[in-house]
Amino acid sequence: MAKYTDSVCRLCRREGAKLFLKGDRCYGPKCAIGKRPSPPGQHGQSRKKVSEYGMQLREKQKMRRAYGMLEKQFAATFERATRVRGIPTGEALLQLLEMRLDNVAYRLGFGASRAQARQFVTHNHILVNGKKANIASITLKVGDVVSVAPGSRDIEVLKALREGPTHTVPKWLELNADALEGKILQKPERSDIDLTLSEHLVVEYYSKR
Ligand code: SF4
Repeated sequence: MAKYTDSVCRLCRREGAKLFLKGDRCYGPKCAIGKRPSPPGQHGQSRKKVSEYGMQLREKQKMRRAYGMLEKQFAATFERATRVRGIPTGEALLQLLEMRLDNVAYRLGFGASRAQARQFVTHNHILVNGKKANIASITLKVGDVVSVAPGSRDIEVLKALREGPTHTVPKWLELNADALEGKILQKPERSDIDLTLSEHLVVEYYSKR
């Protein structure tokens, strides 16, 4: 599988927004977007006004990168979102992204970043309803319980979580930090998304293809 190997901070600078890809560093003074907010590259500071299509493309890239997904996988998730009834497609897309196992693990604090949470999942440190679940992209359901495998409780970031709150858990999740166990109470609402994203631009991007 293709993998992005350059500095992830360049992705934030490219999108002009914090994508929170580096854990604790994202919340401190060393965050690259605070120090150098212009896009990376030789002509980063001289880039001109973007077209409507350019804005839609950038927003799609921003959302895809924030959730650490590859192009094909992200397009497939969008396709699924178009089949969800009862809520706008953009909101359904965000809901599907939030309900991924790697994201739920991250939002519970089982990893300092989505990338670290994903690594914990693929390395068998995470259980779903008490069973091994090493596929980061699976979509969880309301009522599912996500926990840390018994042999993995002493990993540094997880140990710190047991000792006291390290972040704010969204209201659609319930965390028992001591047990390193979390439950999905409800589907996330639009207001629960902690990233600055304009999903309507992503919908417009795909509707033109
Ligand atoms: Fe780097 Fe995190 Fe700042 Fe993005 S938010 S630029 S990943 S430190």
